[in-house]
Parts: sequence; structure tokens; C-alpha cells
Amino acid sequence: TLADRLSRLVKTMRGQARITEDNVQEMLREVRMALLEADVALPVVRDFIQRVKDKALGQEVVGSLTPGQALVGLVHKELAATMGEGVADLNLATQPPAVILMAGLQGAGKTTTTAKLAKHLIEKRKKKVLTVSGDVYRPAAIEQLKTVTAQAGAEWFPSTPDQKPLDIARAAIDHARRHYFDVLLVDTAGRLAIDEVLMAEIQALHAELKPVETLFVVDAMQGQDAINTAKAFKAALPLTGVVLTKLDGDSRGGAALSVRAITGVPIKFAGVSEKIDGLEAFDGERHAGRVLGMGDIVALVEEVTKSVDLDSAKQLADKLKAGDAFTLDDFLMQLSQMQKMGGLSSLMDKLPAQLAAKAGADQMDRAERDMRRMRGIIHSMTPLERRKPELIKATRKKRIAGGAGVHVQEVNRLLNQFEQMRDMMKKMRGGGLMKMMKRMGG
Ligand code: GDP
Ligand code: MG
Repeated sequence: TLADRLSRLVKTMRGQARITEDNVQEMLREVRMALLEADVALPVVRDFIQRVKDKALGQEVVGSLTPGQALVGLVHKELAATMGEGVADLNLATQPPAVILMAGLQGAGKTTTTAKLAKHLIEKRKKKVLTVSGDVYRPAAIEQLKTVTAQAGAEWFPSTPDQKPLDIARAAIDHARRHYFDVLLVDTAGRLAIDEVLMAEIQALHAELKPVETLFVVDAMQGQDAINTAKAFKAALPLTGVVLTKLDGDSRGGAALSVRAITGVPIKFAGVSEKIDGLEAFDGERHAGRVLGMGDIVALVEEVTKSVDLDSAKQLADKLKAGDAFTLDDFLMQLSQMQKMGGLSSLMDKLPAQLAAKAGADQMDRAERDMRRMRGIIHSMTPLERRKPELIKATRKKRIAGGAGVHVQEVNRLLNQFEQMRDMMKKMRGGGLMKMMKRMGG
């Protein structure tokens, strides 16, 4: 990862008093590689590197920083600035109803995001929200919006495939006005690729609706391709913001930088799951850390070195790497370590988003509360049961529950949680938390 490369360079640059043409060159080469690996588009990478170089050259290194550290700081800062500093919520400063137009390729996540935004507007901003679908090409799309709108607790304005999108738009805005809606969210037809007819259609919708927000919805997993899509939508519409979806996927997160650079508008939200609450305000600074492969690694390192039993973490990491099964004993060890580190949820906050999303924040909160009880249950198991949890059937469950003074359901729940953790461990094998701990343990 870039973090590895940078820390190596930071070491080699120790003892030099300022950033020079020579020492900056090698460092920026690594940054360039890392950005390309993170799927940032080439022209965007070039611009970015040039900007960092201009700022870095000749810069005095202050205080106790080495030039290497100073440069890493500069790269991080510039990356954050490029992705947008601070968070930008939806602009609703207009005569109601404030219209929000959703644009993007088919499958980008427009319909899902429409409902997520509806929920956000209702819960966080106390607005009365109406949604409408202009996707007349696929009857299922209109039904889909109806379903997710209901989940969001918003109202849905009916449309049918035999209507024209412009007529739908007019009727919806009229309805929104007459019934005092604060916001009208307009979902639109997808395009599989840039398509002139559909582009003309959304332009006409834009002219009719005069939306206060025109959001470009783009799939983060698109990586390099995001740049062409962004260009086309930028050329067709006066965009006001971006929603970057599927950040929970395996993408390297580089699309954020490309899309931000191409559109020149803020990334307002990130989609982090298929579920209706899987929407986050986009935080450029945090995301910069993710793209750099650092998460809040610095904070994590401090906490981890303070309290984790690195030897056992290393053992577990080795074991997982070797493909050995994750047992209830390992689970128990995990629980104790996480508790030492100030609880699961605080640890999860510090992990790169993709890992944290896999772990599931809610699930972690609950786990923390139940930790003591879980330990009691595991202690009531025999060593064999801990190694082979699949042996634990009804009779054993009853005995274990009796020993721990809990209901059988709690034993079941623990076994379920164990299985989830085991699945997570499988996914994290060779990467993620254990690898990080191992690295820090030398
Ligand atoms: P549309 O064609 O642009 O309206 O896209 P949809 O809203 O129908 O979404 C396409 C697919 O992507 C669906 O299966 C969604 O559940 C999924 N999806 C949308 N946003 C996200 C997200 O943030 N994370 C994940 N994992 N899936 C998403
Ligand atoms: Mg759709």
C-alpha cells in the first residue's frame, strides 16, 4: 500500500533539512503509483502530482518533522482539499418545493439514492418529501421507487410507462406545490452508456423543473470509467453535486478524486450499503486517508501499541493466513483484545471504511455490550467444543447455557456471532486488521 511505501521513504529521507527536487521526485513517483492503483484517472493524477510538487518544492521543514513526513502531510492535505474540505449537505434554499434531479447511468444507484436522500431529508432536516419516477422505460423501475420510498417514510407520486417524462414532471411539481411539500426528488431513467436521446431528455427535464440540486450519481466501482461518464454528464447538465455510491464495495476509492476533479462540484454523499440507511455525508479528508491506504492508521497504531497483545495477534494472523479454522478460542481472544482497545465500536471507527462496513457497526455495538456474557458462555464450553463449534447441538447447548446462567437463545446468538466473525476473518485473511497488527508488531 501507499502507507508502506511512504513510511519507507520517510525513513530514507530522514536527516535532510528541506524538500528538494531530488528527494521529492522519488516520493511523488510512489504517490503517483498509489493513486493509479487506487483507480484514479491518469490526467487527474498528473495534475495532482504537479500541484503537490509546486507546493512542496523549497518548503522549509518545520519543527521536528522530517522532509518525508512533511511531504506525506502535504500529499494528504492536498488530496483532502481536492476531494473537498468539509461536508456539504443538500441545498434547499429556494421557494418550496425544492426540486432535486437525479442523473446518472443505469445501475449507478439513482433509485436507491433517491430513497436514501428522502429518508435523510425527513429525519435530519424535518422536511416533507415527495418522490417521482421519470423512468418510463422500465415499469419495474417505477415500482422500485414506490417500494423504497415507502421504506423511507416519504410520499410517492404515481407515474406510468405510457406517460412522457416531462408530463410526469409537471404533474409532480404541481402536486408538490398544492400539497406543500418541501422537497420533490425526481428519479430519472438510466442509461447503459452515454446516450444522446436520453441525455436530451434529462436536459429537457432540467429546463422544466429548474432543480435547486442536480445530482450526478456515480458508482465508485466504475473506477477509471467514471471519468468519461462524469465528463458527459458535466457537459449535459449544470451539476450541483455528486453522490458516490457503492463505496462499500471493493473499489479503491479513487473514483472520488477523478469525479471531483472532472465535475468541479462537491461530492455530497457516499452510498455505503444497499440498505436505505446506507448513506453518509461525504468527508473528503477521511476519504483521502482511505485512498492513501492509511485509514486513521496513526491513531490506530497508538492505541494498538498501547494495549494489544501483539504476540497473540500475530499468532492469530499467522493462523488465519495458513488457512486454519477460526475457533471459539480465537473468538474469545479477539473479544478480550478488542475490549482492551476501548471497545469494538471505537476501533471500527478507526478502520478504513471498507473493513468497518464489512464488520457492521450495529453488530459491533451489540457485541460490545454482551461481551462479558459471551465470555461466560465460552468459558462454559469444553475445549473440544471450542475447537469444533459444529459439535454444539441441542443437549450441549442446554448444558452450556446452564453453566453460564443464560438462556439457550443466548448460546445460539453467540454461535451466530461467532460465525459472522469467522466469515469476516475469512474475508480479511491476508489483509486488514490482523495484517496491520502484525506489521506493527514487527
Ligand atoms: P439506478 O439504475 O441508477 O436507479 O440504480 P439502483 O438504485 O436500481 O441500484 C442498482 C443496484 O445497486 C441495486 O442493486 C442497489 O441495491 C445497488 N446499490 C445502490 N447503491 C448502493 C450502495 O451504496 N452500496 C451497495 N452495496 N449497493 C448499492
Ligand atoms: Mg432506477
